[in-house]
Amino acid sequence: SDTMSVDNSEPVMHDPAMVFHSWSAQAALAPLELVSAQGVHVQDAAGRDYLDFSSMLVNVNIGHQHPRVIQAIKGQADALATVGPAFGSRVRGEAARLILERAPGGFGKVFFTNGGADANENAIRMARLTTGRDKVLSTYRSYHGNTGAAIVATGDWRRMPNEFARGHAHFFGPYAYRSEFWSDSPEQESERALQHLRRIIEAEGPATIAAVLLETIPGTAGILPPPPGYLAGVRELTHQHGIVMILDEVMAGFGRTGAWLALDNYGVVPDLITFAKGVNSGYVPVGGVMISEPIAKAFDERVFPGGLTYSGHPLAMGSIVGALTAMADEGIVENAARIGTEVLGPGLAALAEESALIGEVRGLGVFWAMELVADKETRAPLPADRMARIKSGLIGAGMLPFVQDNRIHVVPPCVITDDEARAGLAIYREVLAANA
Ligand code: PLP
Repeated sequence: SDTMSVDNSEPVMHDPAMVFHSWSAQAALAPLELVSAQGVHVQDAAGRDYLDFSSMLVNVNIGHQHPRVIQAIKGQADALATVGPAFGSRVRGEAARLILERAPGGFGKVFFTNGGADANENAIRMARLTTGRDKVLSTYRSYHGNTGAAIVATGDWRRMPNEFARGHAHFFGPYAYRSEFWSDSPEQESERALQHLRRIIEAEGPATIAAVLLETIPGTAGILPPPPGYLAGVRELTHQHGIVMILDEVMAGFGRTGAWLALDNYGVVPDLITFAKGVNSGYVPVGGVMISEPIAKAFDERVFPGGLTYSGHPLAMGSIVGALTAMADEGIVENAARIGTEVLGPGLAALAEESALIGEVRGLGVFWAMELVADKETRAPLPADRMARIKSGLIGAGMLPFVQDNRIHVVPPCVITDDEARAGLAIYREVLAANA
């Protein structure tokens, strides 16, 4: 077919010679050139096929080249390809309606952004403006995006060369496998992590804190589902002190966990929800903030001092409408839940039993992490050189893996079939055995 063919008349790849890449020293880059894809499969310029167990950057929830998303973008391009943010737009209203349908009760409006970072940026702005307070608390084990406040709210190393925004403080969230709190059960981890946050709030001064910003399930930091009671406890603390609770659903939202939003798994209702990635599976860049009614109302008479040329861009809005209706019609979120319970969960647990390298497996839906260790007793992380060998082994065996620190994140599209999930598990098994 057309999409499978490689154009050999144009042998020069100007990327990476002329493209400046994210998060990289530029000199030695040799990215795999991707030319086509369908569903869970991706093809490179040499004609090799890969199982995409990364969903690119954990965002292609609906799978590659879903015809209804592509059709929605084409249809909108034909009708009206661009609209300024100050004008009304039917497709924008429809996208907002479909998003709010998936929000908990009490959410009334959506502010659209270009991606996840500026979604968090604007949620922080709303929290600061409505509370009149300044500080934002977030966890060390987090990633919230690569712009002014979002990168400083981020807890991992990427914050440190970028600490130019003020008013941020960090704390430790729960992580039972590598507890900061000397706990030996999920319940104790939850209780002690909440006590730690309570003390941080007291020590920073509750009246100075605008927001607590949390990923519902920290993603890049290791796919860390919160232990029982943790999110409810954070909700209680933030209510108690008049602090805005922001849940970052950029990676965990829109099907990834087998629920529409990750927060549905925990019954917690924050004040603001940020989203991007899975809302349209990244076919056009987009993100946004779901705004609870009291915060939305605060800007009824008062000007919201923020905006973007492409807020609610019609091609992005068309892709959201296409993606969310197709996900509902085709039971794609239910498929993610089922694959997690029936195939990936048991398959990864069996793999952890047989492999000396897997210290822990955790997750739900199509959102899992395997934590690789040099020693199951000491839990010492598997060193970087061995992780690099495993990563090349997986690519060589026909998988696009997601490898982060000493972990493999098992994050295929939500549309994955049982057979594709089993094929991925077989590749992990073979490559881990070869590298044990
Ligand atoms: N928040 C979370 C939880 C993320 O995982 C990411 C991206 O990986 C972001 C925010 C930033 O989103 P974007 O890269 O679209 O700005």
